[in-house]
Amino acid sequence: MEMREGGAVVGAAVAARNVQGTNDYSLQQQPGGGGGGGGFIDQNHMLFTNNNGEFALQFKQQSDEISYFLHSQGDQLRRTLADKRQRHYRALLGAAEEAVSRRMREKEAEVEKAARRNAELEARAGQLSAEAQAWQAKARAQGVQAATLQAQLQQAMVGPGPANGSGVLQEGSGVGCGGDAEDAESAYVDPVSDRRVTSPSCKMCRTRVATVVLLPCRHLCVCKECDDVVQACPLCLSLRSASVEVYLT
Ligand SMILES: [Zn+2]
Ligand SMILES: [Zn+2]
Repeated sequence: MEMREGGAVVGAAVAARNVQGTNDYSLQQQPGGGGGGGGFIDQNHMLFTNNNGEFALQFKQQSDEISYFLHSQGDQLRRTLADKRQRHYRALLGAAEEAVSRRMREKEAEVEKAARRNAELEARAGQLSAEAQAWQAKARAQGVQAATLQAQLQQAMVGPGPANGSGVLQEGSGVGCGGDAEDAESAYVDPVSDRRVTSPSCKMCRTRVATVVLLPCRHLCVCKECDDVVQACPLCLSLRSASVEVYLT
């Protein structure tokens, strides 16, 4: 009797612990079962079966609830993860776009700088080529002037008669270079025209024959060695800008 009641108590306790809804029912059945005598076993068995069914039902409901809860939690977790991933990607994209646009701005600035430098260089090249053309024109003019002077010199050496052959050598110079006394040592007899022609001597060293015309005064008054050091014409003292060597024969 005690054992059976104890079994019923244990069963009721188990049912009460596991299933809250059937607690009142099993406790209500217990006193009747204790005093029932012969019908107690069936009733108890039915109670167990009934409790087992309830338990299974409740267990199923609870497991359903748990699985539903887990499912919803999983959904929420997935949504949260997707949101986070999207935000992360958006942040990454934003950072990448920022970096790319910064690089683009830097490159554009570099290109602009290079274009400006290129324009400066082109302007400088144009200026230099203009200067070069000016210098070439100047050189051509001086070459023409030198050729003219040489022709005049040749004409003066050969052309004039004996009266002024040893006098004024150069047209327009107004200063005679060949009539001085020290030029006697460099005098020679022209074998072609068979007349005495004197070569002018250098007015710097007074020893060698003057073979260089100084520009711009056009005086034939220094030798080739003195031409390397002379700064001004020794006759008229005008500053020497250039010089031309002439061949007297
Ligand atoms: Zn000299
Ligand atoms: Zn001079």
